[in-house]
Amino acid sequence: MKKSDFDMIIIGGGATGAGIALDASLRGLSIALFEQNDFGEGTSSRSTKLVHGGVRYLEDAIKHLSKAQYSLVKEGLKERKLLLHNASHLAHPIQLITPIYRWAEVPYIYSGLWLYDRISGKASLGKSKLISASEALSINPSINPEKLKAAVSYYDGSFNDSRMVIALLQSAQENGAIVHNHHKVTKLHKKLGKLNGVTVVNQINQREDKFTADIIINASGPFVDLVRKLDELECKPLLQISSGIHLIVDRKFLPSPKGIMIPKTSDGRVLFLLPYQDRCIIGTSDNPAILNEHPIASKEETKYLLENINRYLSVKITHNDILASFSGLRPLLAHHGTDKTSKLVREHIETFSASGLLTVAGGKWTSYRSMAESAVNSALERLVKSIDAYPCKTEQYKLIGSRNPISDKIPKELASRYGDQTDKVMNIVSSMDKDEKLPLNLKAELIYTIANEYVTKPLDFLVRRTNIAMKNKEEALLLLPKLAKTMKSELGYSDDLYNKLEEEASDILHSGI
Ligand code: FAD
Repeated sequence: MKKSDFDMIIIGGGATGAGIALDASLRGLSIALFEQNDFGEGTSSRSTKLVHGGVRYLEDAIKHLSKAQYSLVKEGLKERKLLLHNASHLAHPIQLITPIYRWAEVPYIYSGLWLYDRISGKASLGKSKLISASEALSINPSINPEKLKAAVSYYDGSFNDSRMVIALLQSAQENGAIVHNHHKVTKLHKKLGKLNGVTVVNQINQREDKFTADIIINASGPFVDLVRKLDELECKPLLQISSGIHLIVDRKFLPSPKGIMIPKTSDGRVLFLLPYQDRCIIGTSDNPAILNEHPIASKEETKYLLENINRYLSVKITHNDILASFSGLRPLLAHHGTDKTSKLVREHIETFSASGLLTVAGGKWTSYRSMAESAVNSALERLVKSIDAYPCKTEQYKLIGSRNPISDKIPKELASRYGDQTDKVMNIVSSMDKDEKLPLNLKAELIYTIANEYVTKPLDFLVRRTNIAMKNKEEALLLLPKLAKTMKSELGYSDDLYNKLEEEASDILHSGI
């Protein structure tokens, strides 16, 4: 630690915390951010990986003539454009096909997507089109042809969520922020009734430290109510938690770069089958859940997803085809009088406690930037009364990795992870001797991510920096022991410590990531 006093301490290193850290550091505030696990290990690496305005919210906006829902779509579409521009190495447009099996649904679905385009205006990624059943099948042969009447093609964005958290934090760090993963905030401290500091415990060596700040932001996602209790033991919960799972299967089930979007399954949910790097991803479910640092896909949720997606596919997916699965917890705002979580609106909330803890919760990945802007404005209004001297700078701020053109000679797979930083990984490759265990590129990525991307534990690398475990659990289990030598030498870990970390990683991989 270089400092012990900060303008702002942020608790939680997911989309919300990382977005706030970048926004605040660009405005010149001194920042420390603490994350109890790895950056993005919570919900932010477990999303459907779509950058979207929210077609589903649009349906609600029309049905209930809701201005709030309409504004949510409009804001989402503006943020979609900014994210695709500012993290261009990690995000790209994706074409989606919506198969339609009843003629009566054609005008409804087509007009909804047409309106989505109109609202996008200049932020549009491409025109929605009504296409024939045969055209839909030629674009995407995996669609179930039986009783297929027509389809609509439309565009949204797709991105690498776990790497986006890292790009945000690296960019914040470049502007002076101090960020630590595997550091848990365990206590909040007050002076004369006002919060002024936190106790942080290093989860690797259990060292405890105390830091002070003028304002503390609780961006702990599904955990915000636990952190609020450190401040006010009796506080009423803000959130209702729901889980959403995803399954990863071979790309043969989607032999096309275009995804499939089912707007309404028999039980009224949205379902996606999307390309995910060299695999494909199926998601998601929406079930009431219990808070857990490592939620896993349950048998029931898996069965639900398989049954539902198979209705829309020509070749059926079985349990044996699942290469990996993961579950994420939605930090949804609690609405009283309903326990059907899919009806809760994905808006965000900012609230100050009596002692000054600013809690930011809810929202969606796509809107992380505008949520951060609003949270930092609120914090500054408290701290200095006027934000005029501290304008937000994130709209036009390109993240590390997306600032320079990428040469065609650089391996595409590496470039899709490191963008304009890939040269640094390639330089490590060229300076290395052969390794008997790890392929050279992978060893270079490990060395690079330890030095530059906060890799501290084996799964930081296998799950969230390279996504290997997200795509194939078995492959990650085979690689795990092969990381030992490099991780020990690069991080100075003792055999005992590393063995403990490896065992923990193996347990997590065996139970589901
Ligand atoms: P998190 O990512 O959970 O981060 C909070 C962090 O705080 C955690 O890492 C946690 O470990 C840490 N923390 C908690 N307590 C402490 C403590 N005491 N000390 C230090 N750290 C602590 N949005 C989209 O835009 N597109 C999508 O396609 C999409 N798909 C989704 C699919 C699913 C299944 C789910 C669940 C959500 C999806 N979302 C999507 C929403 C989006 O993923 C979330 O809104 C977003 O990731 C929430 O980020 P967060 O930072 O608030 O929470």
